This record gives sequence, structure tokens and C-alpha cells, in this order.
Amino acid sequence: MEKYSTERFSATCSAADFTSSCVDIPKFLAFCRDCPNYGKNWMCPPFDFDPADIWRSYEKVRLVVLQIKLEGVGEGGNAEERAFRIIGGEKKKLLLELLEEEKKIKGSLSFFAGSCKLCAKCAREDGLPCRRPEMARHSIESIGADVSAALKKYLGLEICWIKDGKMPEYLTLAAALLLPPEK
Ligand code: SF4
Repeated sequence: MEKYSTERFSATCSAADFTSSCVDIPKFLAFCRDCPNYGKNWMCPPFDFDPADIWRSYEKVRLVVLQIKLEGVGEGGNAEERAFRIIGGEKKKLLLELLEEEKKIKGSLSFFAGSCKLCAKCAREDGLPCRRPEMARHSIESIGADVSAALKKYLGLEICWIKDGKMPEYLTLAAALLLPPEK
């Protein structure tokens, strides 16, 4: 069992402010094109919608961030494998939590970091529809968000990366809940 602790951060800002300072759809679409998941995962580009329409449709952005601090040396494996294992488990918990929030806040929609990993192999690779559309959510980068800039601006947080095969001081898991205009 991996030993780690988590610290949680959250901030809510206006979607207009977020979009003007932390969204660059062409820039992040170019990064996605270089990713092996491009066109192979339903939650990754290319999309049959314009991501700009998503940003225009919401009033607020609630950022939810987990910093995951590792304890001890872990159960082995290389740094990336450990990071994926730990983040994968926490991401699933956060996904379930935000899906519950979506039910409470009519018209809200959640986004996560990274591609959807709910299936071992995405149905898109076989030209089939998404198997779990009720749970699958797009990544926030895939619709043009600069997560590093957003975490710095709204929460004063830096993202640390694995360097030279070594785990950083903490791992970061970021998600966002987009909130509709209040009626
Ligand atoms: S739920 Fe499965 S089929 Fe749907 S996007 Fe995620 S990995 Fe692909």
C-alpha cells in the first residue's frame, strides 16, 4: 500500500475572468495533437463541438485541487508508475464526488485533468460510442485551460513534475466544476 496524505484547495472565480486569463484553445489543442490519446479517447480532441461554446455557457468556475504528499519510499516501481497509481485512485474518488455535485447543481458540469481512464481501452479506438457517458468527463486542458496558470492565479499553487525519475515533493490533481448562471 502506498502511504500518502492529501491536502485540498478550492476557489471559485468568474468564468469570464478564467477564460480571459487561463484559456488558450489553439495552444492546448496543439499539445493534444501531439498526445497519443488524440482521436483515440472520447474525452480528448478532436471534438464535434467548439470548446469556446462551453466556456461561454457557464458563469463560474470552481477549481478543486488535491496536493498528494507521499510518505516513505512507496512500494517500488518507477516514479511515473507510482504517480499514475496514486493519482488514478484519487481521481476516481474526486470524479464520484463531483458527479454528485453535478446532480445537486442543475446544469453544472465537471472536468478533470488528463484523459478518461474508466475503460482499459477507450471505445473510440474501435469506432464505438462511449461505454460510460454518465461518468466520462472531458479533461480541462482538452477544452483549452492552462491548469498551471489557473492554479497559480486563483490558489497560489505551483505544479511539481517528476524530474530525473524522482518523485516531486507532492503530486497535483486538478478538477473543475463549471457552474451555470443562477436563476
Ligand atoms: S468511459 Fe470508456 S469509452 Fe467512454 S471516454 Fe472513458 S475510456 Fe472512453
